[in-house]
Order: sequence, then structure tokens, then C-alpha cells
Amino acid sequence: MNLKEDNQINIPYGKQHIDASDRKAVLEVLRSDFLTTGPKVPQFEQCLSRLIDIEYVTAVNSATSGLHLACLALGLGKGDLLWTSAISFVASANCGVYCGAKVDFVDICKETFNISAKTLLNKIKSSEKLPNVLVLVHLCGLPSDLEEIHKICKKYNIKIIEDASHSLGAKYKNSYVGNCKYSDISVFSFHPVKMITTGEGGAITTRSKALDKKLKLLRSHGIFRKPIEDHKRPWFYDQIDLGFNYRMNDIEAALGINQLKRLKLFLKERNKIATRYYQKLNNLPISFQTIPSDSLSSYHLFVIQIRSDYETPNFKDTRLRLFQHLLDNGIQVNLHYMPIYQHSFYKKFGNYESCTNAEDYCSRSISLPIYYGLSKKQQNHVIESIKEFFHIKGL
Ligand SMILES: *Cc1c(COP(=O)(O)O)cnc(C)c1O
Repeated sequence: MNLKEDNQINIPYGKQHIDASDRKAVLEVLRSDFLTTGPKVPQFEQCLSRLIDIEYVTAVNSATSGLHLACLALGLGKGDLLWTSAISFVASANCGVYCGAKVDFVDICKETFNISAKTLLNKIKSSEKLPNVLVLVHLCGLPSDLEEIHKICKKYNIKIIEDASHSLGAKYKNSYVGNCKYSDISVFSFHPVKMITTGEGGAITTRSKALDKKLKLLRSHGIFRKPIEDHKRPWFYDQIDLGFNYRMNDIEAALGINQLKRLKLFLKERNKIATRYYQKLNNLPISFQTIPSDSLSSYHLFVIQIRSDYETPNFKDTRLRLFQHLLDNGIQVNLHYMPIYQHSFYKKFGNYESCTNAEDYCSRSISLPIYYGLSKKQQNHVIESIKEFFHIKGL
């Protein structure tokens, strides 16, 4: 029986993979003395540090918190300006608003779906005021062209935060994303749909000792604890800055440590599924994200686009109809994302100049299911459903 006939299909676009060893790791913490930040959090930070080859890592309770702390650590505040990609999750922009800064959007490159050196320079040339911080998003897990963008940002004195939420395990010029060779700070997400999960969680990486110190201070209320040297006041601690409780806990960190052991497996499987989609959907009026040869995508997302030359006056709304067709077939497709400036909250801030590539992307894209554990049968169901829509039978 094919999957469609049993009427039970519900294939999400992304999903976590939890096994017995994950459950064991979490249970061990529940039986231990520490639930909040104990030994597992620094251990998880060390695992990430070794994997990515970066000196400083700060685990936090989400990437959203991580982006907020990153902006604060770089000194972003009132009167400042943050730029990010027009196509991203809202958190890439909200971090600027949290700090009282203004936010504006850079258009994406049509081929890579990321900010490129070209789209960034276009924006710089047409802007009166330049940003203090650029939040660079590696959409779907494909690294942006960091080296070129870094050169530009250095020239114009713009700090770079990589929003690496999609790209744990992705590589740019043979190095893991997050090693901050071309940026000040990088931020990862461990939300269940991302590359690995801690339930909720995130991590911040940097090469700067001073930034690391600030990040760790702000993660926990801005409280500085001295080693007990004040014999008259052994209870003493001092809040020296306004921080938050953005801490990761040991339950989450233990899950993260164990999940990291399977990261390479997850990456390999996601790359395999992507390759299969490329092969099987090759002859349809569909186009894909271009992956430059010096990059390895982590394939957090797999986006297909209705080819722009496909629609005719008698054959319209193809994206909407394909989207609905896939939903009707139990495939929980999604759109990642609409331009952030089209959200009601951002419309309040005034008129953003429209980003034409971003709007074109938004009108033609669909995210297909991709995750470790998506069975061959489920992959076939996705592929066959798309082909069926275009009146092509079989795989
Ligand atoms: C998921 C995501 C975030 C937020 O991550 P959380 O850990 O859920 O806070 C930020 N930016 C991008 C691009 C994301 O995809």
C-alpha cells in the first residue's frame, strides 16, 4: 500500500531525532545533584569548542537570547543601526530592536538566498547611514560568502554577527561555520527542528576573550562572583551590569553533548536526502538554492522554487497550488520565510524599501521535509506527490 492510501501520513518539514542514549543522558542528570548550570554546561561548551575549533563558547537557553547577548556585547544601543537579511526568521532582526537600535534589511542573492557581497554593497551605496552591526544569516545551512562580506564590513567598520541557527556542521572554505574567522560572534540554535537539539537552547561563539567575558556576565544577571577572598563577607556577590537569566541548564546540555555525537550522521543523511531531491526533481519546472563549490551545506532546510519562467497567463498561482497539493497529501511543507519587513510589527516602524529578490523568493519557494529519520518511503511520497502535481507518474 502506498503511503497516501493509508491516510495516516503526516510528514513534518523538520523534526528532532531522539534515541535511547539521549534519554539515558537526560535521566542521568535528573538523578544527579545539578539541574540548572552544573558540570554539563561547561562540558557541552567544550565539545562545541573542539568541534568548531573556536576558543570561546557560551551556551544559552535559545538562539534568540544568544543574538540579544551578541548585540549587547558588541555595544549595540539606542541610535545605532542593525542590518540583517530580508529573508530570515524574525529573531535575526528582533535582537536589534531589543537593544533600542533601528533595524533595516539587505536583499538576498537570487541564487544563494543569502546576503552577498553585491547585495550588501548595493545597500551600502544607497544608504545615508551605515549599520553598526550586520547579522549575517546562513539560510537553509548554506554559509554566506563570509570572506568577501568580511572585507567590506572591515572597510566600513561594521561588526558581524553570524546567525548560524541553520548551520551547525556546515563548512565554509574547509572550516566549520562558527569559527569566527570572518566575524565577531556566531550564534547557534538547538531548537528541535535544527541540526541538533537540546529541547530549547543555543550557543554563542567568539575568538575574543573580552567579548566572551561580557557574554557570560550578561547570561547570568550581570552578576560577578569573585572567588571568596573577602573573609568578612563570604556571602558576597556583586551585580556589575544589567544582565538576564539566559542560562542553559544541565538537562539540556547533557542532551546536547549526546546529540553532538550524531551530528556527522545527521549531516550525512541530510546531504543524502538533498542529493536525492536534486536527482529526482531535476526535470521539473523547479529550481534550487545554488551551493558554491567551497561550501558544505548542513541542509537544515531544503527549499524548492517554482521556476520564474514557468507561469503563463493560463497557468497561475503554481506555488500556492503545489503547496496546497502537498498539504493535502499529508506533507507539512512550509515557507521559510517571508521578508521580515512584511510583518505587522515591522510595518509600524515605517516604510522599508522593498527587497525585490527577497519578495521574488517569497513568491516562489516551498520548504520540503528534510531530517534524519525521514524514511525512503516518505521521501518517495514527497517526490511522487510533486511529480503528480506536474502530471508525471512514478519516481
Ligand atoms: C530558529 C532560528 C532562530 C531562533 O532560534 P531559537 O533557538 O528558537 O531562539 C534565530 N534565527 C534563525 C535564522 C532561526 O532559524
